Amino acid sequence: MKITDIEVIQLRVPPLEADCEWGEDAVIVRVHTDEGIVGLGEADSSPAVVAACIDAPQSNFYSQGLKRLLIGENPLEIERLWQKMYKDSNYMGRRGAGIHALSAIDIALWDIAAQFYAVPLHILLGGRYRERIAAYGTFIPDQDPARSGEIARQLVADGYRSLKFGGGVFGVEADRDVAIVKAVREAVGQDIQLQIDLAGRWRTRAHTLEMAQRLTPYNLNWIEEPVLSDDLEGYARLASQLSCKVAGGESLTTQWEFRQFLEQAQVDIVQPDITRCGGITEMKRIYNLAQLYSTELVPHGFSTGVLLAASVHFLAACEFGTLMEYSRSNSPLFTDLVTNPIRFEEGYLQVPQGPGLGVVLDEAVIERYRLS
Ligand SMILES: [Mg+2]
Repeated sequence: MKITDIEVIQLRVPPLEADCEWGEDAVIVRVHTDEGIVGLGEADSSPAVVAACIDAPQSNFYSQGLKRLLIGENPLEIERLWQKMYKDSNYMGRRGAGIHALSAIDIALWDIAAQFYAVPLHILLGGRYRERIAAYGTFIPDQDPARSGEIARQLVADGYRSLKFGGGVFGVEADRDVAIVKAVREAVGQDIQLQIDLAGRWRTRAHTLEMAQRLTPYNLNWIEEPVLSDDLEGYARLASQLSCKVAGGESLTTQWEFRQFLEQAQVDIVQPDITRCGGITEMKRIYNLAQLYSTELVPHGFSTGVLLAASVHFLAACEFGTLMEYSRSNSPLFTDLVTNPIRFEEGYLQVPQGPGLGVVLDEAVIERYRLS
């Protein structure tokens, strides 16, 4: 079997010149083969930048678009192809967007392999530890605390036992942050696990400590990314001083960054995104590292059903893969892009049993939102 083409599909809901919220754009890759098997992958990144990393012509032997490196290769040789992509793009790749692009292709190669061997992807990854995975629902809060409480109450009615919110106005004004957390906690009661995501917006350790103090009455399970993940010492101090857990790492790529983060930031939970960190191949290495450091791994995931399927298969094959983020975005790219999404039932995501990643794209949705 040989790779014949790598197709990059950029999708976007708002017009190009308008603001775009998380989940409202996406980049999907389709890796085509001469045997008719097509693999699907995704990168949660800037679609235009990922497309450039894949389609770029050769500049020199360390600056090459990923597509030209893989045409004619056997897609089943995943580890060798991962190393080839990593090494031969390392001037413009190595971290960040170059690894996001590599992640999308790596996921598609695993999809091809699992279809070729006619097994669900998690079987190829090592076996099925569980049939379903607990999901925590992530939503973007409303600027009105009462409205945020209503969103959370509805999610509990839908079956969630664990919720997280962040984005929108959250993290910008201290008093409003406290009011939103208070309203959500009061709306869902004490039995629901609650975590908050600052996406770096609290900026400093001192502000984070002050906010954590003010939020103590609302019993948070974890505080995510209060400061940027570059501040390793800041994370280490917060992890030792906060009474709730500290989580982070969704922006990190490769085992090298995660090794440093695990060693120095000393967080309670690492959150690699399978569509950014280096794909399924690298996620396996990061999971193994997290085990060495006795640290929980809960994948980040807030994009389409392709990301979700890859993450769920991955977790099903991990001994401690028990919790997954589940987007509650109402972007059509989350709700409609995949015709057979992973099923959510009573707080759990069902592990798919069909061959490969098991995901089918809705061509009409692609047509409607496709940029190129
Ligand atoms: Mg986050």
